[in-house]
Amino acid sequence: MEGLIGPRLYSCSNCRNNVALHDDIVSKAFQGRNSRAFLFSHAMNVDVGPKEDRHLMTGLHTVADVSCSDCREVLGWKYERAYEESQKYKEGKYILEKSKIVKDNW
Ligand SMILES: [Zn+2]
Repeated sequence: MEGLIGPRLYSCSNCRNNVALHDDIVSKAFQGRNSRAFLFSHAMNVDVGPKEDRHLMTGLHTVADVSCSDCREVLGWKYERAYEESQKYKEGKYILEKSKIVKDNW
């Protein structure tokens, strides 16, 4: 069945800008600020804001807000740096809130 359809995309729920690929989901078991969230290895058509240190449930991280490059809606954040060894896998990856993105094309 693979190959018959185009890549499964997630889009900004506000303006339908394509922001991530389903195949780039690393984990669906994340908690965003307001809702469940997905961890993606890549995101596209997004702007990454200034870095800041945040104490999250899993320890201290340097993160940056990620917003839609089209409508500027904040969709989640990017992990720039994790200080706990067990959290290093998140570095360079993106959290997108499930409530802020919609499935497109599938
Ligand atoms: Zn948007």
